[in-house]
Amino acid sequence: MERFKTKKNLLRFLILVPFLFGGFIPNETMMPAIRMRKIVLDAGHGGKDPGNIGSKAREKDINLSVTLLVGKYIKENMPDVEVIYTRSDDSFPALKQRPIIANVNKADLFVSIHSNAATNKSAFGTETFVIGTKHFEANFDIIKKENSVILLEDNYKEEYEGFDPTSPESYMMFNLMQKAYVGNSIALADRIETQFRERVGRKSRGVKQAPLYVLWTPSMPSVLVELGFLSNSEEERFLMTKQGQEYMASAIYRSIKAYKEEIEIN
Ligand SMILES: [Zn+2]
Repeated sequence: MERFKTKKNLLRFLILVPFLFGGFIPNETMMPAIRMRKIVLDAGHGGKDPGNIGSKAREKDINLSVTLLVGKYIKENMPDVEVIYTRSDDSFPALKQRPIIANVNKADLFVSIHSNAATNKSAFGTETFVIGTKHFEANFDIIKKENSVILLEDNYKEEYEGFDPTSPESYMMFNLMQKAYVGNSIALADRIETQFRERVGRKSRGVKQAPLYVLWTPSMPSVLVELGFLSNSEEERFLMTKQGQEYMASAIYRSIKAYKEEIEIN
């Protein structure tokens, strides 16, 4: 405590600390009085980027089918909500472009839909990500994989200002982004995982935090859903069926509906 020459200075410092750092602590409470009028649905990968590949399934196709179904259910049942897709066919929007679509349209929610894979073929289950750096090392494989699509883009070095998805150091600067929306993002992510577990009978691996590129820049609550592991033959089979896709899409749809009701009550 030598830095504080007098007791008064120490006291001043202690009083200031909460003000100085208060703004940097992720706000994990829900933000009240918001309307949900516009949602951006992002089917992961597409075009020249197939994403994960199972024995038969390609991630980009599963993601697109489920995303279009979520959009269809919202349009049918929530007439006051506008649905915007980052892609509605087998195109390849740049990773950077996806949150930009949400920001430009002033969307109230951004939901990115993916399917997982692992070298351990027995790994299975769903997980939903929100932005954050908790358990960064444990999740680095998936973080690297989802962000490495950047490397397929032309001029990625200029476009992403030197960001290297394979280098842990590149992730340091993203700690503070999206902090304002973390509470809402977690609220939706929790609902999605609960729906997967309780209504569809999937194994939920829980809500996780990771600095996934597509979650850094949206100026709104944002989640990234991993529907299951295409490297697990049983889960791959389930996700390839029409019924499996409908179950997963309706679980996501019900979560979005419940989330909307919750934030609009406040
Ligand atoms: Zn993916």
